[in-house]
Amino acid sequence: LIDTTTILPEVSLKASGHVDHFTDILVTCTKCKESFRGDHLIEAVTHEEAEGLTTAEVDAKIVELKIRCPKCKGELGPSRPFNMMFPVGVGPLGKDRAYLRPETAQGAFLNFKREFEALRRRLPLGLAIVGRAYRNEISPRQGVYRMRELLQAALQIFFDPATFGAQLPIDSVRDERLRVAMAGEKHEPIATDRTTSDLIRGGIPGFYVYHMALVQRFYLDRLRVPRERFRFAELDERERAFYNKVHFDIQVRQDSLGGFREVGGVHYRTDHDLSGHAKASGKDLSVPVADRKVVPHVLELSFGVDRNVWALLDLGYELAGERAVLHLPPALAPVDVGVFPLLSKAGLPERSEALYRDLRPGFDAFYDETGSIGKRYARMDEIGTPFCVTVDHTTLEDGTVTLRDRDTSGQVRVPGTSVAAILHDLIDARRDFRSIGSAVARP
Ligand SMILES: [Zn+2]
Repeated sequence: LIDTTTILPEVSLKASGHVDHFTDILVTCTKCKESFRGDHLIEAVTHEEAEGLTTAEVDAKIVELKIRCPKCKGELGPSRPFNMMFPVGVGPLGKDRAYLRPETAQGAFLNFKREFEALRRRLPLGLAIVGRAYRNEISPRQGVYRMRELLQAALQIFFDPATFGAQLPIDSVRDERLRVAMAGEKHEPIATDRTTSDLIRGGIPGFYVYHMALVQRFYLDRLRVPRERFRFAELDERERAFYNKVHFDIQVRQDSLGGFREVGGVHYRTDHDLSGHAKASGKDLSVPVADRKVVPHVLELSFGVDRNVWALLDLGYELAGERAVLHLPPALAPVDVGVFPLLSKAGLPERSEALYRDLRPGFDAFYDETGSIGKRYARMDEIGTPFCVTVDHTTLEDGTVTLRDRDTSGQVRVPGTSVAAILHDLIDARRDFRSIGSAVARP
């Protein structure tokens, strides 16, 4: 994980292609002067994705579909490309042009050579950056889904294309079934199971398919996205970003956003970026591999943090009558465990606080003794706390406590001394709640 600057000089973004190609198509109303994204105007009428159209195609569609200004019904002017980067004037007179970074990735490319030296000159090499990226969206909308300031988490994997496939344990994902919609299928809200071998036979590089399998495991096993709500969606040549050779979006089907929506991507950027920077800077960015010189290729795994958090809220928030439950994956919940005395008297608070202090070093624990026990459980359910531990009179007699599961409201009785070990197993998904202890009647 590295950290890099967010202000980039124009020359570096010229070299990466962003100055010339990081554009949307802008259409301005001749009457009220409001501006719109050309693809969004067309999508609003056709309900089909229109990304990747040229200005001429957008103009033709606007005439063909008789599209008028959505705001004042005025006539729309001719479309033109609009660069989505935020310009920054550097220096007291602002004469040196720079931009806020449109993606975190460029920081990894600009620092690659130095990191390669520091990390003992070996490929593959992974550089991860988590940080803000900035895009001058013409029409930010749908809450956190399309913002001018977004949080990206991206991993750039630099590799030697001649050997990368053989370096990976591709056999470990052989015949794993991936949920995929190819370019021709993705306009339908569907996905087809395709094995990794099928995809490789279809011409997608083995190293790429291997990383698709790892990404799918992350979404299904760690983020616990239901299988039918997850898919990879292929972008064809017109749709994919200008730097990509193979490009699948990672999508999660979300009711709040009306279908499958992009939350990340797997991007084969080839040597586009390093070669561009080498050419513009005159610096040799090739590295020695055995007896050869190689300009590494790059596989990028990129995730919109805001979009993924939204997806977890969309999937996990349940409102059943008065009861609100946030079904966050236990490993991601901000609070791991609530610790309560059943009553705030008779020595129970003291015993609970002792347990709370024992759990604190290993867990984000929350102690609460106010209100009824039902209210305290409800508060924990609402913020997504997966487990609660309650100390009662029986605890004082035999040392056992009640352990409660958020998702099922089920309760079991376990020794107070085993609580920490059981919580670790549950949070890391090594054990299922139903396999623990004996069920007790709810108080
Ligand atoms: Zn108008």
